[in-house]
Amino acid sequence: MRIAIIGAGVIGLNTALALISRGAEVTVFDREGVAAGASRGNAGIFADYAVLPESSPDMLRQVPRMLLQPDGPLSLRWRYLPRIAPWLLRFLAAGRPARVKHITLAMAALMDHVRGDWDQVLAEIGAEDLRVTRGALLAYTSRRAFEADRAAWQAKAEHGACDVEPVMGQTLHDMEPALNRDLLHYAIHLPNLSHCLNPHGLVERLAQAVRDRGGELRHHEVTGLHPTEAGVRLHLPDGAAVDFDRAVVCAGAHSAALTRSLGLKIPLETERGYNVTLPAPGVALSRPVSIPEKGYYMTPMSVGLRIGGGVELAGLKAPPRWSRVEVMARHAETVLPGLNRAGEARWMGFRPAMPDTLPVIGPVPGAERVLLAFGHGHLGLTMGATTGRMIAGHVYGSNHRIDPIPYLPTRFT
Ligand SMILES: Cc1cc2nc3c(=O)[nH]c(=O)nc-3n(C[C@H](O)[C@H](O)[C@H](O)COP(=O)(O)OP(=O)(O)OC[C@H]3O[C@@H](n4cnc5c(N)ncnc54)[C@H](O)[C@@H]3O)c2cc1C
Repeated sequence: MRIAIIGAGVIGLNTALALISRGAEVTVFDREGVAAGASRGNAGIFADYAVLPESSPDMLRQVPRMLLQPDGPLSLRWRYLPRIAPWLLRFLAAGRPARVKHITLAMAALMDHVRGDWDQVLAEIGAEDLRVTRGALLAYTSRRAFEADRAAWQAKAEHGACDVEPVMGQTLHDMEPALNRDLLHYAIHLPNLSHCLNPHGLVERLAQAVRDRGGELRHHEVTGLHPTEAGVRLHLPDGAAVDFDRAVVCAGAHSAALTRSLGLKIPLETERGYNVTLPAPGVALSRPVSIPEKGYYMTPMSVGLRIGGGVELAGLKAPPRWSRVEVMARHAETVLPGLNRAGEARWMGFRPAMPDTLPVIGPVPGAERVLLAFGHGHLGLTMGATTGRMIAGHVYGSNHRIDPIPYLPTRFT
């Protein structure tokens, strides 16, 4: 089977590998080349603990305060409000208790497989050196904030998504001596968490593995696609068209433009995130440390210390607002006394965000030769290998390990 994949990020390339291993002849199209999107600069956390939806009654209670905080973890460009309003309404609806239960079960079903699937992919492509398991800490400045988050962590632990250990005072500082002991007193320790030492490097290795197995990577935009009698036709900007037996849309936050050409309206938005990578931070962390009150992670990587996160709702077109990352980096300077920011590299990425947190994985209703794999939000690195295998399962019609229904595009018809 000749299969086109649109998008050479962590989702598209995992999908390519999974399809090649089932015997497909694969061509991956990307208008900017390998790892041009969110997969390039993310925080590198294999966050298999993240089974709760982003929208929850608890989170919604905090939104007004967060929006009013100029240095808070969430910001909305008010001019963008009319555009994003329908998505926000769906986001609110996803926070209803019955929906939260449904989404949590569906996320937990995926998360059960992500570690094992990455084990397999990393071994297959010789990239086991890029993932380490050193745990992570979520550190708090106040007991109130720590206690407020504990219930959510307990809920995640109850779903089997992670082990959780509260740590305090001296124990915290013995674990990470570089943290400011006057500022941080309480933390949640996730002892089994893994992280990636170089997300960009990982996607490059996936791309090389695709080439080594006979896949083709084409530096080309796809402007639209439509089903034909025998397969799928892809349209290229120069007016050319290419035919395939199947096509998979893995264009991250940009996927909605392509699904519109199929007459399908999927409520995909972007949650923009920012970070800086410090090549010589001058202080050492042995594991990722998050400051949840400020919405950022500090991840030690082979490329330096990466500091960032946050959510900005401003669409795909607005220019970056670098003050967003400056606020996080300045706070990190207080958390890590002596932090050296010389030579730092700034980055902004577009998370492909669904209002209900659930990614879209599966065939387009009425045009089953086109499949969709996008909308992984904050968790695309985490779910990359599992998504690839799910798409291969849809294309080759095997029994699914995971009930595919909660992620199907049919939920929007
Ligand atoms: C600040 C930040 C931190 C994050 N941290 C984490 C984390 O710690 N853990 C985690 O699991 N996830 C994290 N994420 C989320 C994760 O990075 C994304 O969910 C994931 O990278 C999405 O992968 P993707 O392949 O779907 O999209 P992308 O990586 O964005 O790739 C899409 C590709 O499609 C191409 N494309 C788009 N349109 C077209 C077209 N018309 N024709 C051809 N090519 C096209 C683009 O050029 C791009 O290369 C983070 C994201 C951000 C922004």
